[in-house]
Amino acid sequence: MRILVVEDSIPVANAVRAMLERRKYAVDIAIDGDSGLEFLLRDAYDAAILDVGLPRRDGFEIARRARALSITTPILMLTARDGIEDRVTGLDCGADDYLVKPFAEEELVARLRAIARRATRPIVDQVTAGPLVVDVSARSVVYDGKPVDLGATEFRLLEFLARNAGIAFSRTDLLERIWDYEFDGSSNIVDVYVSQLRRKLKKAGAGDVITTVWGVGYKFEK
Ligand code: CA
Repeated sequence: MRILVVEDSIPVANAVRAMLERRKYAVDIAIDGDSGLEFLLRDAYDAAILDVGLPRRDGFEIARRARALSITTPILMLTARDGIEDRVTGLDCGADDYLVKPFAEEELVARLRAIARRATRPIVDQVTAGPLVVDVSARSVVYDGKPVDLGATEFRLLEFLARNAGIAFSRTDLLERIWDYEFDGSSNIVDVYVSQLRRKLKKAGAGDVITTVWGVGYKFEK
């Protein structure tokens, strides 16, 4: 297995390297968030271990960026804090599992193996909502047997809403999750994309599957 370790504390990075090399894993180390993301995008790793607290960009942001760019490398998040909030944030950002520091060597290795194993299994990643089928691996959308041609952002937006069918999301939520940047208070980009998406779905014969929730935002109807 080839593992990326992103950790700014040299003693911790070296300890993790020693643990993994004892098991004949190949290990690359990045010591800040920018180079960590760069390594992750450039090379095919079997798994990545990301520390949360890092200079330049934190582990959450690396995971979020990587997932937004369709990098599926399994991610194990290392957190010094044991707050439930950090764990939830980590998983929300696309991490597969987390480990609270300090950890035992056996636990690190077991979790790493588990996430890497899960990733190599063929997974059928399809979101179905009534006659709508969103094929996440093929990045295709079919409504009632008819293909719906969507741009990359429209696809991510529809996939996200369909995965979370029945839940209303604010424009700020959607901006943060789909576009990965902070809401500037004036952007109507979400509305623009939602209306494009509705138009394309309507053309394929779908009714109003994305509804406006007054005072909240949008949701995908179950
Ligand atoms: Ca750190």
